[in-house]
Amino acid sequence: MLNELELVHSDIRDCTKCDLHKSRTKAVPGEGPRDARIMFVGEGPGQNEDEQGRPFVGPAGKFLTELLESIGVKRSDVFITNIVKCRPPNNRAPRKSEIEACNPYLNSQIKLINPRIVCALGTPAITTLMGDEYSASRFHGKPLTKGEVTFLPMYHPAAALYDASLKETIFHDFQILKRLLENEETLNTNTPKVAEPSGNKQTLEKWV
Ligand code: URA
Ligand code: SF4
Repeated sequence: MLNELELVHSDIRDCTKCDLHKSRTKAVPGEGPRDARIMFVGEGPGQNEDEQGRPFVGPAGKFLTELLESIGVKRSDVFITNIVKCRPPNNRAPRKSEIEACNPYLNSQIKLINPRIVCALGTPAITTLMGDEYSASRFHGKPLTKGEVTFLPMYHPAAALYDASLKETIFHDFQILKRLLENEETLNTNTPKVAEPSGNKQTLEKWV
């Protein structure tokens, strides 16, 4: 018998709710433990992901694994997915209509996995999860707690991979993730610390 998450993933593999299904090879539901504490959400499958049906298996994925190792976290312990589950043709950005059509799947995954921390990789994932006023350039490394979940916006590893200064920034933001994990106990018992779109500097300083 399939569990609820597996059912969502099998719906994704058969999905035709937006035009991206027409050009995909394989849909990429995402992968990781059902009870993962950390979830990563990227933009959408690229060529390697589309061929294999698995998320972050190309160069950006290799870099993501390296970033996780830098804070002592195993890739197999986190859940990894994207805001759209099918590859946009020629790696174009996913359209708003496609992101909206696909969003119920991401919401179901978040609900069923119930992670403590959701890392949004790149501005499309950040705006989808946190709201249109957020972006990677302004909010990377600044956690926002909503209810039981803390969202941590970051640059996309593909953007940071070949840019020395962004690379340094993303390694630093993973240190913030490490700090959040260490503080999880405190997070659960204290008043949530909320980073607001303006004046969130003080909140950041609490973590860094
Ligand atoms: N980039 C993404 O945003 N997602 C993947 O799964 C791979 C590369
Ligand atoms: Fe369905 Fe999402 Fe794929 Fe569109 S991108 S066909 S909504 S699974």
